[in-house]
Amino acid sequence: MSTVKYVLSEDRIPKVWYNIQADLPEPAPPVLHPGTGPPIGPDDLAPLFPMQLIVQEVSTEKFIEIPDPVRDIYRQWRPTPLFRARRLEKALDTPARIYYKFEGISPVGSHKPNTAVAQAFYNKEEGVKRLATETGAGQWGSSLAMACAFFGLDCDVFMVRVSYEQKPYRRGLIEAFGASVTPSPSNKTNAGRAILAQDPDSRGSLGIAISEAVEVAASDPNTKYSLGSVLNHVLLHQTVIGQEALEQFEMADDYPDVVIACAGGGSNFAGLAFPFVGKNLRGEAGSRIVAVEPAACPTLTKGTYAYDFGDTAHLTPMVKMHTLGSSFMPPAIHAGGLRYHGMAPLVSHLFELGAIEATTVHQTDAFAAGIQFARAEGIIPAPESNHAVAQAITEALKCKEEGVSRSIVFNLSGHGHFDMQAYMDYAQNKLKDYDYPVEAVEAALAGLPNVDA
Ligand SMILES: *Cc1c(COP(=O)(O)O)cnc(C)c1O
Repeated sequence: MSTVKYVLSEDRIPKVWYNIQADLPEPAPPVLHPGTGPPIGPDDLAPLFPMQLIVQEVSTEKFIEIPDPVRDIYRQWRPTPLFRARRLEKALDTPARIYYKFEGISPVGSHKPNTAVAQAFYNKEEGVKRLATETGAGQWGSSLAMACAFFGLDCDVFMVRVSYEQKPYRRGLIEAFGASVTPSPSNKTNAGRAILAQDPDSRGSLGIAISEAVEVAASDPNTKYSLGSVLNHVLLHQTVIGQEALEQFEMADDYPDVVIACAGGGSNFAGLAFPFVGKNLRGEAGSRIVAVEPAACPTLTKGTYAYDFGDTAHLTPMVKMHTLGSSFMPPAIHAGGLRYHGMAPLVSHLFELGAIEATTVHQTDAFAAGIQFARAEGIIPAPESNHAVAQAITEALKCKEEGVSRSIVFNLSGHGHFDMQAYMDYAQNKLKDYDYPVEAVEAALAGLPNVDA
């Protein structure tokens, strides 16, 4: 009987995505053409993305309807649970009320299918045959490969070489879904060949892999490009997380004082936080909103707010964002999903407006927090998510110190079942902390494009 009731709760999935562009006090700066400089129009993006996604990219409509075929697939794992971390609260002996939204229950174990499914749907609608993309640790590649399998699209994944070699299981997962995986930099593209000519042993980076995928998409009319974070439409799709959380907090008769998520490109952060930021912007609430970055790749906290390219070969449009420079090679921390030189333009814009905060966590502190969380709650977080866990624990201990009970929510963006080697390395004291690489960032920032905007 109770099973039936659960299945019937399907209508608790949001019917719309929330577009924060409708509530911004001032619009985010325009996207600029990579070659010629002036703001780009929809036609400039058409070789890379289907028109529906381009429309979403620039839309100022507050709510955008989620197509039924996408909701039908969401129904397999959504709504995701909002848990109260009572055993963690007890272990910390804190008066804080700690909640977490668990995105790790999706089939591939992270929030990323929320946008992968939507992107595959719109591409299929427009008659696209193949999607090209990049992946770091493989979370995004496996999400898009799954979504392409659902909609009958071919999928080419350029996987950062160091992950391709060190993390064979996610590569195996991507291939099991029928996608092809190429270690990047590769000989398949001009961008890859140029990097290999300079450095035949290059271990690759997300910026290089993006260049390769964009080049493949731009040179084939049947292939389009798909990105797993950063862009406005990606952040939009992820808002199902925060909208569900709003309703779940209503059911729990509570409301978060602090909203926390890790931030690599910014999509799981935006997904949980934007519906709460919107409430703040409309004067309906006053939560603190905190993005957590790795100390080794501190884009919001230490980066420059400037126009930059999304990729190493400078094939993408230029966006205004917090950046460490498009040629920056982040240190090899285990949170592969947080190793990106830039930050979502919408997240960067909100940070400049003072609507959100940002902080950093070292990877050994992040793993220590992840282990403490696992022992209390039974879930092994993804290395990326550990950064949010660490900040939630810091906030909870602050409550204890001050003797006040605040409500804290964080996004548990994924589980860490494919990352056990990192946990084993941590247990054997093999993980090291990397300080902010000042000189490498300065060198990369010296190459920022010259834009007067
Ligand atoms: C990819 C990934 C991230 C980082 O990407 P965002 O776009 O910043 O969310 C965080 N957590 C998990 C589990 C991921 O797979």
